[in-house]
Amino acid sequence: MIDYKYSGLNVLKPEDDFCFECNSQLDCFTRCCRNVNIFLMPYDIIQLKNCLNILSGAFLQKYTYTLMGKSGLPVVGLKMNNDEQKSCPFVTDSGCAVYESRPWACRVYPLQPESTRITEKKGKVYYSIMDVPFCLGFKSDTTSTVKGWLDRQGVPIYQEMESLFKDITTALFLSDKKIENKQIQEMFFMACYDIDQFRQFVFETSFLKQFDIEEQEIAQIRRNDIALYRFAMKWIEFGLLNQQGLKLKPHVMAAKKEKLGIK
Ligand code: SF4
Ligand code: SF4
Repeated sequence: MIDYKYSGLNVLKPEDDFCFECNSQLDCFTRCCRNVNIFLMPYDIIQLKNCLNILSGAFLQKYTYTLMGKSGLPVVGLKMNNDEQKSCPFVTDSGCAVYESRPWACRVYPLQPESTRITEKKGKVYYSIMDVPFCLGFKSDTTSTVKGWLDRQGVPIYQEMESLFKDITTALFLSDKKIENKQIQEMFFMACYDIDQFRQFVFETSFLKQFDIEEQEIAQIRRNDIALYRFAMKWIEFGLLNQQGLKLKPHVMAAKKEKLGIK
C-alpha cells in the first residue's frame, strides 16, 4: 500500500491504495459541500436536471454561473447559496439532496485527476489526493484502490460521457484555436449544457432538413437525453473540427459547393 501522507508520492495509478472514509457520523459531515468550486460537465447537468425534474434551461438559470474559458468556450459552475457559509444549493443537514445524481466532482473526491485526455488514450491514468485540512476522512485506516473507489462512486459512466466532451476541448486546445464568434459560443453552450434547448433546435428548425440522419437515430434523440448528448458532440465536432460524424444531405452539400465555387 502507498501511504501518500508519508511517502512523498503525490501521484496514484488506478491500482494504488489510499486511506479514506466518509460517513455522516464525522464532525466534518457536509463541511465539504460549502464554499467549494464545482465545475459541471454536460452529463452532470443532464443528471441533475432530470433528478430535479426541470428543463436544462431552468436548471442553468437557477443553479449555475458561466465563465469563458481560455479557448473562448463557456464553462459552467454550480452556484453556491448566498449565505454565510456559501453552501451548495443541494446540501441539507442529512446530506446531499441529489446524492444519486451528484456531480462528477463530488463523486471523484478526494481524488483529483492528473492525466490528460492524451495520456488517458495511451492507457496512462493518474490521480492525486486533494489536500483538504478540515476533512476527517483522511484519518481513517480504511483503504481503497483508486479504481475501487471510483467504481463505488459510480464514476465510470461520468468518465465515459466526459470523454466525448474532452475529445472536443482537447482537440480545440491542441489546434490553438480561440473561439471568438459569439454565435458559435452560444451554439456550443446550447449543445453542451442546455440539452432541452438543443432538442428544440433540432426538431423545431430546419436542422433535420440539412443532415442525413437515420430515422432510428432521430427517434432516439427525440426521447433520450444521452442519445441527444452524443449527437450534440458529433454536431460540434462536425462544425468546429471538420469531423465527418454527420453528413449533410446531398442537395445541401451541392448548394454549399456551388456557393464556394467548388465543382
Ligand atoms: S469526511 Fe471529508 S468528504 Fe466526508 S463529509 Fe467530512 S469533509 Fe466531507
Ligand atoms: S452536489 Fe451534493 S455532494 Fe456535491 S457539494 Fe452539493 S450537496 Fe455536496
